[in-house]
Amino acid sequence: MSFRTDDTIVAIATPRGRGGIGVVRLSGPDAVRVAQDISHHAQPFQPRHATFTRVVEPIADREWRAVDEVVITWFQAPHSYTGDDVVEISCHGSPVLLDRVVALATAGGARLAEPGEFTLRAYLNDRIDLIQAEAVADLVDAVTPRQARAAMDQLEGTLTTAITEIDAVLFDLAARLEASLDFPDEGFRFIEREETRLFVQAERDALAALVARGREGRLLREGRTVVFAGRPNTGKSSLFNALAGAARAIVTDVPGTTRDLLTEHVDMCGVPVTLVDTAGARTATDAIEAEGVRRAEQARSVAELVLVVLDGSAPLERDDWRLLRQTRQRPRRLIINKSDLPSQWDPAAEGIGPGAAEDFGAPDVRDDAPLRVSAKTGDGLEALREAVADRTMEHAIHRDAPSISNMRHIALIETATAALDRMLVALAAGATEEVLLVDLGAARQALEEVRGRRTSEELLHHIFSRFCIGK
Ligand code: GDP
Repeated sequence: MSFRTDDTIVAIATPRGRGGIGVVRLSGPDAVRVAQDISHHAQPFQPRHATFTRVVEPIADREWRAVDEVVITWFQAPHSYTGDDVVEISCHGSPVLLDRVVALATAGGARLAEPGEFTLRAYLNDRIDLIQAEAVADLVDAVTPRQARAAMDQLEGTLTTAITEIDAVLFDLAARLEASLDFPDEGFRFIEREETRLFVQAERDALAALVARGREGRLLREGRTVVFAGRPNTGKSSLFNALAGAARAIVTDVPGTTRDLLTEHVDMCGVPVTLVDTAGARTATDAIEAEGVRRAEQARSVAELVLVVLDGSAPLERDDWRLLRQTRQRPRRLIINKSDLPSQWDPAAEGIGPGAAEDFGAPDVRDDAPLRVSAKTGDGLEALREAVADRTMEHAIHRDAPSISNMRHIALIETATAALDRMLVALAAGATEEVLLVDLGAARQALEEVRGRRTSEELLHHIFSRFCIGK
């Protein structure tokens, strides 16, 4: 990764493949000159004006041929995405054409941009902070509207603002503690102990609240895993297909997905959810089945929600009871399938459901009422879909509250919170200003790292390598 900002970079900014238009983006001191050269446009481009022109290529000495009709827009420094001169060339959206325009630009002196380099420049030029740079990647990656909104919140700087406000208080506190340190003879404190404690406590609580919200953001970012469990023939696969088929399938790569667990990524009322269909939960009869059952158990143990599927049209069996027992400490929802057929048992009478003291001891998870559904007729499936979305997304995202979806941010904010906790303990123990300032400094450093004020090249490399080319 290059941390230079004095040369001109170029890349295709739109996805590979055919489209109505495709955009080639240039950024850097020579962006305008390169655009002027490859278009042979007679008049100089005007900032913030779209110019209809052509891109041309040399075919012989002083002979040129049009490559495409294009619209060229110049975003003048510093009022551009990167902070440098940016030129966007809107071409017809053919991959060969776009490659040709990029090749002409590199022949004219531009360098191929690395992934994320446009955003890296915006960061290096102080157009955005690191939180916002990471939000750009999230926004580009978003697959559901809610994910996009959470990323957009970060891009607009809600988290930046929250952290900046907290840091401003801590900065003021540090200044006053230091002043007390600098004038020890005066026998005078620039801030009283109780006041210090109140400030630290308030900011510590604010940070802890940010982390709590972070869990929610993370869920939005990575989606949740919902596992179907049940003995064979209860209708798991039918329900899986009914839910996966009706919902818009999301195409993403989830590493580590085992082949024998069927998974599907779907948008459940705005929440990205990975549905997992498992091998039947029953006592295995052969080695391969045993392996399938083991993996199913593993999937259940990591799932955010287990849908325990029971067959309402047949008496409960030993394997059903075993599964109920195994999942009783898991967040689960009981599903009674085949509601189109005459019911063979009643959950309340069997001691299953809310408040029921199951015969294997009091339930550790308070079950909601079992949902009656039919995979065959579609009865109750909408309620099931809503229940899955509700249970996986306990709280709605509020626009005004920042949600942290990034593990790097959460870890650093936790570091800052821990430092303030230490400071509170030290305060209570009557520690000197010098000691207090050490913890305060540690807290502030962690917060600065979130915003990217002190960031190693290694970390920048790691963050920006997530991007695709042209962003
Ligand atoms: P799995 O082994 O738990 O995955 O169960 P399947 O989805 O393969 O279903 C087992 C059998 O039950 C199949 O013959 C399905 O057609 C049938 N089945 C599934 N859901 C329903 C339902 O809601 N009503 C009825 N009548 N049959 C169903």
